[in-house]
Amino acid sequence: MRSGNHSYGIPTPMKAHQARKRFGQNFLQDTRVIQDIVAAVRPQPQDTVIEIGPGLAAITAPLAAKLDTLHVVEIDRDIVARLKTLPFADKLVIHEGDVLQFDFASVPGRKKIVGNLPYNISTPLLFRLSEVAAEVEDMHFMLQKEVVERMVAAPGSNDYGRLSVMLQYFFDMENLIEVPPEAFDPAPKVDSAVVRMIPQPGRIGVADDFDHFAALVKQAFQQRRKTIRNNLKDRADDAQLAAAGIDPQQRPEHIAPERYVQLSNNLQSHKREEMS
Ligand code: SAM
Repeated sequence: MRSGNHSYGIPTPMKAHQARKRFGQNFLQDTRVIQDIVAAVRPQPQDTVIEIGPGLAAITAPLAAKLDTLHVVEIDRDIVARLKTLPFADKLVIHEGDVLQFDFASVPGRKKIVGNLPYNISTPLLFRLSEVAAEVEDMHFMLQKEVVERMVAAPGSNDYGRLSVMLQYFFDMENLIEVPPEAFDPAPKVDSAVVRMIPQPGRIGVADDFDHFAALVKQAFQQRRKTIRNNLKDRADDAQLAAAGIDPQQRPEHIAPERYVQLSNNLQSHKREEMS
């Protein structure tokens, strides 16, 4: 922990920061990991880069050194105050607030998004970022290792599920670096990993109705141990499953992402035909 500061409550901006659990604050302290992340991002001076949760600037400082401007989104008021005192503060555009409410479109241009993310909001944040995939060049995130494994999982693996299908719809993803708890202060209880996400629209097909596709995938994985026939019994019959290349006896975790897109599109066009 960063303690041992005896300023007797005098609120100077550089007072040691006490990590806040509610904001998922585990600060990176391993120089090698920090260098590897920056090398993976490959920032060029003119790039539009947004860092989520700069914290005590472990990644912010080396990124800013390579950039003309760096956008940062930070919820913790005390950290925002510290950021404003940094020697490279003039390069920072600070967006104070909750990243889950942040309007990424307010930053013009194709964006590179980076962050050692607060693990407590990582899943809703990843779903949120999928909505802005069209404006993104690439994203590099430190996440719980277990979450990264679910994101990149292939059909047939225990980790393959709704998160894999929904993110693989938008992105090509790669597990780049595994990071042990000691790389952080305070150390989290879990292992971490850095994932690279590159938008690849249409890589598993294009859903005619995205909301229908998303609801179908959610329902398909509601009970992993059951067959797809069982999980989707109010949506699709065996013939409709077979038409999408799905064996009705299969479990949801054995079905490739593109099969879900195909099934959703078939069901939607069937519905349209019935209505016309
Ligand atoms: N980037 C720093 C590092 O690598 O050492 C800090 C990473 S720490 C895991 C997560 C950071 O995200 C903290 O600075 C925290 O205050 C910030 N944060 C937490 N929840 C947030 C939210 N909802 N919106 C924006 N920032 C948030």
